[in-house]
Amino acid sequence: MYLRYPFLLINNMLQKAILSERVLTPDGIRKAVVLIRGEIIEDILPKLPAGNFDVIDLGNSILMAGIIDPHVHINEPGRSHWEGFDTVTRSAIAGGITTLVDMPLNSSPVTTTVDSLEKKRNATQNKLHVNCGFWGGVVPGNENEIEPLIEKGVLGFKAFLTHSGIDEFPNVTEADLRKAMPIIARHKLPLLVHCELETVTVDHSNFNTDSYRDYLSSRPKKWEDDAIALMIRLCEEFGCRTHIVHLSSADSIPQIVKAKEKGLPLTVETGQHYLFFHAEEIRDGQTAFKCAPPIREKANNEKLWQALKEGIIDFVATDHSPAPPDMKEITSGNFMKAWGGISSVQFALPVLWTAGRKHGAGIEDIANWLAAKPALLPGLQKTKGRIAKGCDADFVVWDPDRSFIVTEEMIQHRHKITPYSGQQLYGLIEQTWLAGEKVFDQGKYLHLNRGKIVKR
Ligand SMILES: [Zn+2]
Repeated sequence: MYLRYPFLLINNMLQKAILSERVLTPDGIRKAVVLIRGEIIEDILPKLPAGNFDVIDLGNSILMAGIIDPHVHINEPGRSHWEGFDTVTRSAIAGGITTLVDMPLNSSPVTTTVDSLEKKRNATQNKLHVNCGFWGGVVPGNENEIEPLIEKGVLGFKAFLTHSGIDEFPNVTEADLRKAMPIIARHKLPLLVHCELETVTVDHSNFNTDSYRDYLSSRPKKWEDDAIALMIRLCEEFGCRTHIVHLSSADSIPQIVKAKEKGLPLTVETGQHYLFFHAEEIRDGQTAFKCAPPIREKANNEKLWQALKEGIIDFVATDHSPAPPDMKEITSGNFMKAWGGISSVQFALPVLWTAGRKHGAGIEDIANWLAAKPALLPGLQKTKGRIAKGCDADFVVWDPDRSFIVTEEMIQHRHKITPYSGQQLYGLIEQTWLAGEKVFDQGKYLHLNRGKIVKR
């Protein structure tokens, strides 16, 4: 008698059955019913079974695992006037992203100590609308912080080989990496590296500050190629999982192929903007396009597409890194002074799909590049990135055939500047589901504050 009520309560949790003609399962797209118990996917069946369910019929819309973006600069605390947890996670919901991993900069303090990680976690209170994990930072002299940060649940580490743009986050040298990598390797966590190494000096004296061509030549491919060569060498020596963020130089593809053929624990991401834009179409003074490494020529970017389709590049992440309009030098158009970072997290899927459909990519590729593969880097693959039994019921529902124009009104980022303004993008996000609940539907937020902190 006393057990009856709790029993009913548990039983009542098995109430949702989502039907779609196009469910993206690890085995491909199929008509299916996804049963949800509480926050978890209970089963995937060909037909609705007998029983009492709250049935949600999506028709022909695509049901895919929620997007995971492991490369986002949230900037809070300390620089929340650039971006913050509230605005970035609202943007994520609107973009079908259900898990973000925050970079250890450009917040202040930067996440290079346990104390700063605690400050960052405290800053998320009442502002976390999707799940969020954290990368720790490796800077010169903080090797004694690495294990304490691991104990507190960081998902891995990030380092720079060139100036990061933030003085509080200095770049490392090979000597610093030799101290950090054995520790990170022991814990089997990844080290993410911004690969640019200033091995050739660039003469800026004749540069026009508003010329995109001049900005592009100020960060040559050789910087990236030499940095990647160094990281491959250290990856092999220490057996440390090494991840190259935002690959832009296609000249590095052969050395990456070689390293992967050797079986080194090396992974690579590129960014949507390298796949969507090319240097030839960026006009002088358009500093919204400034990022580092820069967006290169069309011929280079076509090679990135090829490498992505061949699995040499593992996945795509936004590197959402906004700054206020004055820091982007929107009025002056000065590329040399402008903050290097592109604001884009809300449009991760439509941008990749719009460029992808022109490059022969399929919907399964999008699920692979935005959910399944990026789940591996922070070690979330057991519960996220797939529609499979026992995984978290985090989903994006989208229509690949509907398009929209990017307008300021729809942008949920703290600042409206983005190089995607005015672009027609395919792939409309219809719904976002987080832990078994629909949190976003046709442009409306249904539930906020449902995000959780993801720890290792
Ligand atoms: Zn970044």
